[in-house]
Amino acid sequence: MRYILALDQGTTSSRAMLFDHAGMVVAVAQAEFAQIFPQPGWVEHDALEIWQSQLKTAQKCLKNVSNQPVAQSIRAQADTELVAKSKPEILGIGITNQRETTVLWDRQTGQPLANAIVWQDRRTAGRCDALRDLGHAGLIQQKTGLVLDAYFSATKLAWLLDNVPGARARADKGELAFGTMDSWLIWNLTAGKAHVTDASNASRTLLFNIHTLQWDDALLALFNIPASVLPTVVASSGVVGHTDASLFGSPIPIAGIAGDQQAATFGQACLKPGMAKNTYGTGCFMLMNTGSQPVISQNKLLSTVGWQLDTGTTYCLEGSVFMGGATIQWLRDGLQIIQSAAEVQALAQSVPDSGDVYLVPAFTGLGTPHWDPYARGAMLGLTRGTTRAHIARAALEAIALQSADVFSAMSQDARLGLKELRVDGGASANDLLMQMQADFSGVPVVRPKVLETTALGAAYLAGLAVGFWSGVDEIASQWQADRRFEPNISLDERAAKLARWHKALARAGDWADG
Ligand code: ADP
Repeated sequence: MRYILALDQGTTSSRAMLFDHAGMVVAVAQAEFAQIFPQPGWVEHDALEIWQSQLKTAQKCLKNVSNQPVAQSIRAQADTELVAKSKPEILGIGITNQRETTVLWDRQTGQPLANAIVWQDRRTAGRCDALRDLGHAGLIQQKTGLVLDAYFSATKLAWLLDNVPGARARADKGELAFGTMDSWLIWNLTAGKAHVTDASNASRTLLFNIHTLQWDDALLALFNIPASVLPTVVASSGVVGHTDASLFGSPIPIAGIAGDQQAATFGQACLKPGMAKNTYGTGCFMLMNTGSQPVISQNKLLSTVGWQLDTGTTYCLEGSVFMGGATIQWLRDGLQIIQSAAEVQALAQSVPDSGDVYLVPAFTGLGTPHWDPYARGAMLGLTRGTTRAHIARAALEAIALQSADVFSAMSQDARLGLKELRVDGGASANDLLMQMQADFSGVPVVRPKVLETTALGAAYLAGLAVGFWSGVDEIASQWQADRRFEPNISLDERAAKLARWHKALARAGDWADG
């Protein structure tokens, strides 16, 4: 039996999944790793722990296919027993990863110089302000398609170079390598032979020109980044190296790379201009395919490389909500009003509405379209009658309302009514949340049968490169809807809800000092 192995290096866990030719998951393994919060607004990961967790899950996944049924988290993938007896042949590995998270390591020893700075980390917000005050934001947006924000890699990398003793001098001597998680994993998978990233990941660094598809000297100078640390940019689909023989028995081609959101867009088969998806993971990320040209947003969306195939480059418009499913994690771990994320639906459904309570989950600032790093979380409209059920409902509404704002910005930029929104990610399993999304966005929300679209997208990219799938048409034909949620409130109700939400948002804005 022949498969593609996808490595999905997420923000809270590393996962490995094996896909068959029908695009079905036949084995899965997952491991969480530590979230490190050294100071308010700072978020770090231990890059070595991530590599170890990713390697272990990959090894376990390959073992699972010969011994174990698929983990229960995978819906309706029942064929494990069928493949159980034969030794799997892995044709290629596809890698998808949390984006922007920045690792700096020693080329000689392979040791990271410091913890990785995670995309959510706000420590460089002040640096971004300074560059904005100097008038650089316009040029940066024009070249990179991004807004000048601490979310992206460039200021994180500069911070590491400036704050780890001796780092800048060592970088100038060519001793250090920078990468997002894709580069870091591939470096380790190939025992240091390949230092690469794909165009979709590169386009999230603020250092990559999305028009020329190359690192940009002017941006490198602006952010004070030496070119010596940069990985080589490669296509999203294509063999870039082989795994070291010591890892999986025999070398496996590494054949696909894409940032998690771009991979999910590919896995959702949003392969034609105007097709859009929203992923409800830690954050929420909405991407719309804009075809072979970048569309520069009038509404503070990002323009980004979707994927690069041998047939050309596809661009996307993107909107990011920082606190999506993480809002539910906070209900569980911070407020402790639920014991598991899945409980939130029943609790929220125990009340008919949120009792006019609004939760603005600006815990790490606000993303699209507000881009306010100084906004902080707020809960408004509390009364003596407010219960944890109202708060749970307000939390779910907040996820959908933030996404509704992104959807509205995207519709305006696209100048066309988007026909539907395809959804995926851990929190998309929540039917109440999906109905809220359809209601607040006024568009049908469609959930596919295979929810693991991020890993699937990486598998598709790798499988295309090694001839496992014939082309994008075959991929598009594999996508199947599981459930469709139709908008079910009046235009007036929607407008009233959004107006109230925007009032709450305004109260949470520009709160934190410096
Ligand atoms: P990531 O890839 O970013 O780690 P996942 O796609 O695995 O995220 O989704 C996990 C997130 O989804 C968590 O933040 C969790 O709180 C949230 N989540 C999981 N199940 C539910 C649910 N039934 N309702 C709402 N949120 C959920």
